[in-house]
Amino acid sequence: MMLPVAGRFVAGEGPAEALEHVRQLNDRNVKAIVNLLGEHYDDREAADADAREYRELVEDIARSDLEATVSVKPSQVGLDLGEDVFRENLEGIVETAAERDVFVWIDMEDHTTTDATLDAYEELAREHGGGVGVCVQANLKRTRGDVERLADVPGKVRFVKGAYDEPVEIAYKGKEAVNREYEALLEYAFENFDGGIAIGSHDPAMIDRAIELHEEHGTDFEIQMLMGVRDDAQVELAEEYEVYQYIPYGDRWMSYFYRRAMERKENLWFAVRAVLGR
Ligand code: FAD
Repeated sequence: MMLPVAGRFVAGEGPAEALEHVRQLNDRNVKAIVNLLGEHYDDREAADADAREYRELVEDIARSDLEATVSVKPSQVGLDLGEDVFRENLEGIVETAAERDVFVWIDMEDHTTTDATLDAYEELAREHGGGVGVCVQANLKRTRGDVERLADVPGKVRFVKGAYDEPVEIAYKGKEAVNREYEALLEYAFENFDGGIAIGSHDPAMIDRAIELHEEHGTDFEIQMLMGVRDDAQVELAEEYEVYQYIPYGDRWMSYFYRRAMERKENLWFAVRAVLGR
């Protein structure tokens, strides 16, 4: 059973709880990106089971009147087992979603997965004329080139700073360098993309910069933040802009909750206080 304290960052263990959370969010004008927690499976059963659950989730979303998309991790649907397994499972999800008009995001994992992830994204986005999005990470030096490659692909691109500790040879290190690169990537995207830009960040400075660039170039964009992080700001921004909340659910909630609680002092205090009942 999920600890109540984890409920700030994780919607519950099953899809029904996740979709109930989506309903409450939609009532406040915030849209949803639903993520089934899971990664790095080394057996085919587990990868196929999560792919199946995503297809069912897509069908549940399509049957509802909810404003919701899904987001899948490559290693959750088989990338560690081989590119062929990943492709097969991802294609199954995207095909089901395309038939039902539900959008599919592909999360980006560490640098060893970037080529396989972008190749799969590009092929599926071109085949379906959109309906798919991929995440790119500002901390990787290669990303400028990747973003140029993605400019004319008919999908969406989520820009994040990058959650993985990458080798110094291939990555920008330190907040300042990553922020600088993030802004440079946004400048390129707002100038060169037809739309489909997602700002996957809680950083007010990056969000303000995106708004400035939107006003300058008129390019469409959306803001994406995690469940439990700046929830009030999400609702406020949604009065003027398109805002999505990334909502994890599933029985593998412990390590995700631990990461969120550890990444900021105030989150850690929140967790400790909740456990102590204060
Ligand atoms: P940070 O650099 O962490 O913080 C900058 C500023 O933002 C802070 O100074 C503060 O003002 C504000 N802020 C940040 N957190 C809080 C908080 N808890 N409360 C109040 N203010 C806060 N990474 C990947 O590698 N692959 C992915 O597929 C991926 N998908 C993501 C999807 C979404 C929707 C989001 C939001 C993030 C995703 N990330 C992903 C994570 C991302 O790479 C960053 O690690 C993470 O978002 C932290 O960077 P940041 O831009 O939010 O701001």
